[in-house]
Amino acid sequence: MPPQTCPFAVRGCRQKVEEVKLEEHKNACRFRTRQCTHCKAQVDHNNLPEHEQNCEKRPLPCTQGCPAKRARAQMEEHIKKECGKTEKDCLFPQCPKRVKRDELEKHYKEIKKEHRHIFRRRVNTTQEETLSIPNFTTAIVGMGQDESIDTPHFSIQGQSFCFELFPFGETQSLPGRAAACLRKLDDYKGIIELDMKVVSSTDRITMSLMKDWSEIAVGGAWGYPNLCPLHQLLKAASEFNGELTIELKVTASMDRPSGPVPPDTA
Ligand SMILES: [Zn+2]
Ligand SMILES: [Zn+2]
Ligand SMILES: [Zn+2]
Ligand SMILES: [Zn+2]
Repeated sequence: MPPQTCPFAVRGCRQKVEEVKLEEHKNACRFRTRQCTHCKAQVDHNNLPEHEQNCEKRPLPCTQGCPAKRARAQMEEHIKKECGKTEKDCLFPQCPKRVKRDELEKHYKEIKKEHRHIFRRRVNTTQEETLSIPNFTTAIVGMGQDESIDTPHFSIQGQSFCFELFPFGETQSLPGRAAACLRKLDDYKGIIELDMKVVSSTDRITMSLMKDWSEIAVGGAWGYPNLCPLHQLLKAASEFNGELTIELKVTASMDRPSGPVPPDTA
């Protein structure tokens, strides 16, 4: 048999090799190519390590750190459609959480109760009242500690309250201090935010409360035992011909359990 042409002749090898030596030559020929394990292309043997390192089809570890490996070109789709580490919005519209794809099921199971809570309706009602006591100086004559001037009862979310001013303080007050409080007259069980201000151009007499009234018994009150020294109230009244004016802003938030409950996903 005549010597054979080297299979890499097209790449420049001019050697003729006897058939028995052909296999040996193919593995040593300086023009030889080898197949890339990723893209299957034939690559010059000198360049193969570098090619395989940079081959577009070489699987790379997921950029988000999940165990999957994907070629560079497929990474974006992997992250979008299947990667367990991709954060997704929780399905419940009122749940603000973003949860990793492979933790979503667990999230739904674990916090179903929390979702029920989220889906409760919370009703906020704000009411503003301006209360005034004409001739404040005269009105408090003969009063003592633990005696109050009460506003007429007012209703918020169908529940009655009244605001009480103790010019000479109540039992917990320091001497000479006036006290103020809000009193619960029905069994209101929500949260009340109260902002109170005594109208005065010189002193800043305010009270700000946020209280969960489910902890307070009917008839109980919550407020400031040491609102301000009594003389500040007298001064405020004297600025307006003896009339003491109090501005109240009451916001009541009560959970209503009538809201929709999310679908069962477990
Ligand atoms: Zn050759
Ligand atoms: Zn390749
Ligand atoms: Zn991944
Ligand atoms: Zn959620």
